[in-house]
Amino acid sequence: MRKKIVAGNWKMNKLSDSAKALFEEICAHSQQFGNVTVMVAPPSLYLAAFAKSATSKVCIGAQDVSAHNDEGAYTGEFSAAMLKSTGGRYAIVGHSERRSYHGETDALIAKKIRACLDAEINPVYCCGESLQERESGKHVQVVQSQINEALSGFSADELKTLVIAYEPVWAIGTGKTATTEQAQEMHADIRQFVSSKFGADFAKEMRILYGGSCKPSNAKELFSQKDVDGGLIGGASLNADDFLAIIKAAQ
Ligand code: 13P
Repeated sequence: MRKKIVAGNWKMNKLSDSAKALFEEICAHSQQFGNVTVMVAPPSLYLAAFAKSATSKVCIGAQDVSAHNDEGAYTGEFSAAMLKSTGGRYAIVGHSERRSYHGETDALIAKKIRACLDAEINPVYCCGESLQERESGKHVQVVQSQINEALSGFSADELKTLVIAYEPVWAIGTGKTATTEQAQEMHADIRQFVSSKFGADFAKEMRILYGGSCKPSNAKELFSQKDVDGGLIGGASLNADDFLAIIKAAQ
């Protein structure tokens, strides 16, 4: 039985005081999280302070991490080992905004996954197709080739802590959610593809999150799909009531 995950990707939102207030409000409700793993990925400036004050029921994650795990002259970066040393547990890698605004490729993302695994940080690998790719019927092929490129250099044993987030680019921040059928179909396909690469036992255990305009009104239906193991939430994770309602929908 796969344990569900609800993760909040705050992106570049909230000044220090309101970030702290939101985080405290989420933590204050952590007794109600039941069997759901809750992860919050704030702007990296706030990570260490949050990790220090988090309850055991709230995990902290980074929105990105360096591909380098050695210390050195990489201005602006922080390593997975540094994230681990602050108490962080997860790192999102390959988000579509990193791909489009920072030119990240699956080859680079593979290095970031390696850096995470070496530092015992759980990578949350994001993949997903653009609107044009979806409309031309190439979505399955695009996502499979992303996964293939990012994960081919690893063994199933190495990837035990990997989480995949399927985030169709056309659904991110647009209010346009994938239908439950579209989400389930793609999640099932991802699981099948991962099974063909790493074996059925591995694929059965691996969590696949849905991301893209997930909100309280659609979360329950999305999370009830057989291959949807929770969500990576953007906009709706910035409001405590919405985020808590989404966590409830995963229970
Ligand atoms: P929205 O929930 O705002 O669509 O963002 C999804 C996302 O990009 C999470 O990583």
